[in-house]
Amino acid sequence: MAASTHTVTNQPPPLVGYDVFASDAALTEAVARSVDATRLEEVREELTRLGQAAGSAHAQRWGEQANTHPPVLRTHDRYGHRIDEVEFHPAWHRLLGHAVGAGLTDAWSRPDGHLRRTAGFLVWSQAEAGHTCPLSMTHAAVPALRADPELAAEWEPLLTSQVYERELRPAAEKGGALAGMAMTEKQGGSDVRANTTRAEPLAAPGEYVLTGHKWFCSAPMSDVFLVLAQAPGGLTCFLLPRVLPDGTRNSFRIQRLKDKLGNRSNASAEIEFDGRTWARRVGEEGRGVATIIEMVAATRLDCVTGAAAVMRQAVAQAVHHCTYREAFGGPLIDKPLMRNVLADLALESEAATTLALRLAAAYDGGTEQDRHFLRLAVPAAKYWVTKRCTPVAAEALECLGGNGYVEESGMPRLLREAPLNSIWEGSGNVQALDVLRALQREPAALNAYLTEIGTARGADHRLDRAIKGLLTELADLEGLEARARRLVERLALVLQGSLLVRHAPPEVADAFCASRLGGDAGAAFGTLPHTLDLAAVVTRARPVAGG
Ligand SMILES: Cc1cc2nc3c(=O)[nH]c(=O)nc-3n(C[C@H](O)[C@H](O)[C@H](O)COP(=O)(O)OP(=O)(O)OC[C@H]3O[C@@H](n4cnc5c(N)ncnc54)[C@H](O)[C@@H]3O)c2cc1C
Repeated sequence: MAASTHTVTNQPPPLVGYDVFASDAALTEAVARSVDATRLEEVREELTRLGQAAGSAHAQRWGEQANTHPPVLRTHDRYGHRIDEVEFHPAWHRLLGHAVGAGLTDAWSRPDGHLRRTAGFLVWSQAEAGHTCPLSMTHAAVPALRADPELAAEWEPLLTSQVYERELRPAAEKGGALAGMAMTEKQGGSDVRANTTRAEPLAAPGEYVLTGHKWFCSAPMSDVFLVLAQAPGGLTCFLLPRVLPDGTRNSFRIQRLKDKLGNRSNASAEIEFDGRTWARRVGEEGRGVATIIEMVAATRLDCVTGAAAVMRQAVAQAVHHCTYREAFGGPLIDKPLMRNVLADLALESEAATTLALRLAAAYDGGTEQDRHFLRLAVPAAKYWVTKRCTPVAAEALECLGGNGYVEESGMPRLLREAPLNSIWEGSGNVQALDVLRALQREPAALNAYLTEIGTARGADHRLDRAIKGLLTELADLEGLEARARRLVERLALVLQGSLLVRHAPPEVADAFCASRLGGDAGAAFGTLPHTLDLAAVVTRARPVAGG
């Protein structure tokens, strides 16, 4: 109905009814160059279906509903029995059901599995980020579980299944299951060696009972958890099902749900194990970190991809808004200064997407070179890409002016979500120190990284200079720990530059190398050299509704 006092004009249409995949040039090109040609059409169709669903009005509504109706803890039933359940809004289940049905918990059973899943994760996360936490953990539990072939045989088909069943039931009665992980305790998260949760062996081989707590345990309604606890032989990884094989509930006390900055659709719980909590050992006693690190490595790639998704959605919204919004006589997108801001944001988003997909392709490649490359590139990317997410989300929000600060725009949700991927699965410093560890203990990792970036040598003089500078930095062993962030930032930027020089259009690679490697930009976004082809960079980033 028309307002009686004025006519509403100059408000952009919502970005809805578009294909999140097909309208993302950086992503579609990365998929096209990485997927085997014989499968490309099939993969494209799959991602297009997901992209259309992610950009649809109903998925956007589910995303809003799941966040405006956060999960509620029900510790007891009406008769006073302990149930320790979390109730989610139906929209949460719809989001999860769609994602599981699209195969987003499985990178393991299909060719190009990581590539397909990473691209799908990047697309579908843009509908809503919170529910991707259990998707990520479920997918990542598989390689850790393989330390115990018997457990893997029981759980892997359920974790990689495309069936979502929310009810807690014994594994044998389920068509699909979700997994979580519980490592962090009150006295320490990064330093899990400080874990105090105890595991006492039972008479049956491999079976234990746990006593203790976990300070963060996300998605507590998952069917099964990988947990660290101190066994007689040291810190050990355990598989802890919420329902025991005989159908009774395992003792799994949910004490509270965290009141979080963002990620509000997802429940993150404080839990306790009371000495009756039953678990099965995964891997050897004392090898807990080595076993669960397989899971952590896979979730770290999802942190990179999740951050890339937040950035892409933020940039898509900003470019879309500025295409339609006019000020001072013309569309914002045509204003030279706004164009500079948008182009700068678009560069960051494209660099993140390209890097995430390159890492996924290396997982699929599976060669020694790939493995060594990932050892260095994953923590470096986790450090840098997730660090860029918050400033990108904040600046993109500002592109929408006052509308951006208002909840209905979706931008505040993106901004609240943005810091999280930098914190969990190892915070910034922990990633930087992990890169140092790889540099010091695994020379093959640096060699693989240098081989990768070497393929772009000679293509851009700023990239060449940056590689030279990096090698000088790497040769300097003084004060390494205090210099770790600086070093890792350079490793990540050079890697992103080398990828864009090889794969992106010249205007994107040129702008990235000038600003991120050549030093020709200020600290804030929107400070790119004005001589660059910024219009082309922005046009490439524009999502097209109905496209
Ligand atoms: C929403 C949310 C959900 C979560 N879900 C889970 C979950 O499901 N399961 C789970 O196990 N955990 C979960 N976590 C916990 C998360 O993984 C930890 O918070 C994280 O690993 C950091 O641990 P911490 O909080 O104990 O901080 P600390 O380990 O105390 O670290 C604090 C700061 O110190 C830095 N730091 C640590 N060591 C060093 C060092 N040697 N040198 C320099 N700096 C250092 C860190 O980078 C960090 O910035 C979740 C966290 C959040 C926020």
